Formats: sequence, C-alpha cells, structure tokens
Amino acid sequence: MSFDYDLFVIGGGSGGVRAARVASAEGAKVALAEEYRMGGTCVIRGCVPKKLMVFASGYGEMPEEARAYGWDIQDGDFDWLPFRTKLNSELNRLEEVYRSLLNGSDVEIFDSRATLADPHTVKLATGETKTAKHILIATGGHPVRPDLPNAHLGITSNEIFQLESLPKSVLIIGGGYIACEFACILNGLGVEVTQYYRGAQILRGFDDEARGLVAEAMREKGVNLHLGTNIVEMRAASDAENAQILTSTDPAMGGAAQDTAALTEAGSGSGPVWVKATNGQEGVYDQVMFATGRSPSTSGLGLEEAGVAVGRRGEVVVDDYSQTNIPSIYAIGDVTNRVQLTPVAIREGMAFVETVFKGNPTKPDHELIPSAIFTQPELGTIGLSEEEAREQEPVDIYCTSFRAMQGAFAGKSDRVLMKLVVSQATDKVLGCHIVADHAGEMIQLAGIAVKMGATKADFDRVCAVHPTISEELVTMKSPMRSA
Ligand code: NDP
Repeated sequence: MSFDYDLFVIGGGSGGVRAARVASAEGAKVALAEEYRMGGTCVIRGCVPKKLMVFASGYGEMPEEARAYGWDIQDGDFDWLPFRTKLNSELNRLEEVYRSLLNGSDVEIFDSRATLADPHTVKLATGETKTAKHILIATGGHPVRPDLPNAHLGITSNEIFQLESLPKSVLIIGGGYIACEFACILNGLGVEVTQYYRGAQILRGFDDEARGLVAEAMREKGVNLHLGTNIVEMRAASDAENAQILTSTDPAMGGAAQDTAALTEAGSGSGPVWVKATNGQEGVYDQVMFATGRSPSTSGLGLEEAGVAVGRRGEVVVDDYSQTNIPSIYAIGDVTNRVQLTPVAIREGMAFVETVFKGNPTKPDHELIPSAIFTQPELGTIGLSEEEAREQEPVDIYCTSFRAMQGAFAGKSDRVLMKLVVSQATDKVLGCHIVADHAGEMIQLAGIAVKMGATKADFDRVCAVHPTISEELVTMKSPMRSA
C-alpha cells in the first residue's frame, strides 16, 4: 500500500520537530502539522520565555549587591511592556528558526490542526486528508485549572507571558515547578506574591532538605507562602456582592488586599479577583494564577476513531518504544505523560526514529534525569532524594549548607545547600541535590558523573576548583548522618 508520507508528525514542539527532522535526514518523506506556533510549549509559552523572565527578575536585587561592592548605583523599576515587546520578538525569531530548520530538512509543514481518522490517515482542519505509513503524536500538554466555580477568572502559565500589564498583586495556586518558579519571578519583578500550596511543603517529590531551603529562601525574599492552604471560592472583585466583602478583608493576607478603587485600575486580563481560602482568609488579587499541573493534549484528536488507547489522565498509552496499541501510531513527549521535560521529549523523538527508521530498536532512557527548578535560588537535582534512597537501602548523607562568598560579602543571608546521597553498600552516589544560584548549570555537570555511576570516592578524587560554590561537592569528607 502506498502512502503520501513515510511519517506524519502531529505537533510542532521540541519532540515533534526533532523527530521529523531526524527521520527526514534518514531519507523518510515527512510532514508535520502544527495548529498554533512552531516551537510548542518550551519555545512559545514555557521554558524559553520563563527563563528570560527569570533573568529579568534577577536584576532587582543587583543594585543593592553592587553597592556593597563599591558601585555607585541606584535602584530602578521594572517596565513590563518594553520587556514583553522584546520577549515577543525573540519568540518570533525562535519560531522562525524552528520553521527554517524544518524547511531545511525537507519536512513539509501544514499550519493546521490535524486529527487522526484511522491508523494511517490524518485529517487536516482544511478538510484535506493525508496518509502516512507511521503517525507520530507529539501534541504536548496544557495547563489545567482546578474544578472550581469561576476558575476561568484565573490565568495559567499560558497567559502569563502576554499580560497587558504586570499585576500589583498575584495569588499563585500550586506548589510544583511552575508555581514556585513564577512566585520567584514575579516577586523579583516587584509583584506582591501570595502562594497557596495544599500540601505540607512545596515541590513534592524533591529532597526534603532541598525543598525546605527553597521554601525558606522564597519567604525571605518576600513570597507570602501559605502551606496546607488552598482556594475554595473565587469571584470577580467587581461584583457588587464582593464589594461588601472587601470591607471585611483579613489584613493577615500579607497586604495583598486592596481597596476597590485601586483595584479597578490595577488589574489586567480578567481584572481583580476576590478569593477565599481553606483557612477562611479572604483577599483580592489583581491576578490569580493556577499552576496546578498540566494534562496531555488529546481531546478531539481522533484517538478513538483510530483505536488508540488512552489512559486515566487522557494520556496516549505507549510501550517502552513509544508505540501505541496501534502499530503504525507512536507518541512522544508530554502527551504520553511520562516525564514532562523538553529534553526528554527530544530524546524520545530520537529513540523513535532510531527504532522505526534506522532499524535499531531503542528505548528512551528515563533513568537518572537531571533537572532544575528555576526558583531563586535554583534547585538542581538528579537521582534519589534522601527519603527515597533510605527506603531502598542504607545510605550515607553528605550535606553542607553555607553562605556563598559573593552574597555573604554583600551582607545577604542566602544559603547554599550541597547534598550527596551515597549507597553504603556500593559507595555509589545515588542522588545529588544543589540549592544555589546557577544550580541548574551545576547539576548538568554533576549529572554526568552520577549517570556514569560515580562513587563518593570518585567525587573525592577530583581536585576542588577554588574558590567556587560547587567545590563543596568534592570536599565533603564525613557523612553528616546515615539513614
Ligand atoms: P506539577 O505537577 O509540578 O505541580 C502541580 C501543583 O499543583 C502541585 O503542587 C499540586 O499539588 C498542585 N495541584 C494540583 N491540583 C490541584 C488542585 N486541584 N488544587 C490545588 N493545587 C493543586 O505541575 P506544574 O504545572 O508546576 O508543571 C508541570 C510539569 O512541567 C512539571 O511536572 C515539570 O515536569 C514540567 N516543568 C518543568 C520545568 C523545569 O524543568 N524547570 C519548569 C516548568 C514545568 P500536589 O503536590 O499536592 O499534587
């Protein structure tokens, strides 16, 4: 049977684009459909704009630090609109880069939504149908709001980059990557940030000491973090009914509550929102941001028509080779709800091409993936937390916490944490956790050693680079404790 293409990719994010290009380089005839902007979540409304906002927010503290180092420099104000304009130009540039990479790889691009019609057929929003020997679903995910009346009044990470103005106050719901990163970013840009997390400590699943230090640092820098707290009710603050409620607003909300007159000017998007929390506190915020997780984007994709199995969270169910229950259809990236990280999606795409177009069955490797949370300070992590490791085997914990030289000289109280979780039986480093400025950069390099199976003795054999923060990773002589 002949097909229009060897491969049809649905979704122009990091995973889909990489798979399309690499398959084409192997001689496959490839097409890719993207309904929105080329580049997907990472480039358009995720990692890239987020990191640029992280950079922007870091400058606020710098004048004070610079003064401590002898500079005659004044504090300044952040101006959102010029930044947003420049941000948008950069995203347009990157989108064009993605597009030209596909063009240069002879991948045919359809700027259209595509859905599955059957195991070999894709239907475009234009009405056209295309057939392919293989179909790759790489449609990613999207942020979800909790099931709460008026939840539409809150924004998500999709909207945060395109606000008409920076809010004066924001309430962030959630305690994961996105919630914590944006709490820090917005706080650094001068927004009054309140964060509700329903659990006992933010960043569930990460090493307890590391998340504890990040939480403390966030509070010290001004984030009004409430643990064990969630939102129970929200309404537009302009509602007449809420205007009355405003008069009884609880001052314990960290100053976030404002009078109605100020609110009507301040808001952007949906306007100020009145919120009631599980602890009974009430407040009004210019914006409420939900960072309550992301779901696979599979709705209306024709999965049922094609017979593709879908999991409980709406994810495309795949085997170790990213193949669905329909042999001609594969899926990679966030839509499979395995590990929601860009570099993982890219690797899944490469493994797919290796398997399907190079005759070399390859499973994407999901073991020991380093990652960083771009909070202030950052948290870089690879491997097992102390809590996970001690459930598996006896471990030694090497840990140090100190004030880094640069900040300490400027009188800042910020602390750094370096932690190694080491197997007592094999001396292998099972986990490495760093809380520090640039921890993301550090964990990338430490991750190589951990992935190679380095032992604590291997770390110790490496001479320190002095004076650096990361030299502590090779100079911790005695375990702090065993667990
Ligand atoms: P996460 O799953 O990391 O966090 C979701 C948070 O929302 C959790 O704290 C969760 O609480 C809370 N939550 C979920 N449902 C509700 C609810 N109904 N009410 C209140 N709180 C709720 O998702 P994110 O959206 O932060 O990020 C999605 C993924 O994107 C991450 O898992 C990560 O893989 C990726 N990402 C990676 C980044 C990086 O590498 N730096 C940056 C941003 C995103 P609980 O813990 O109790 O479940």
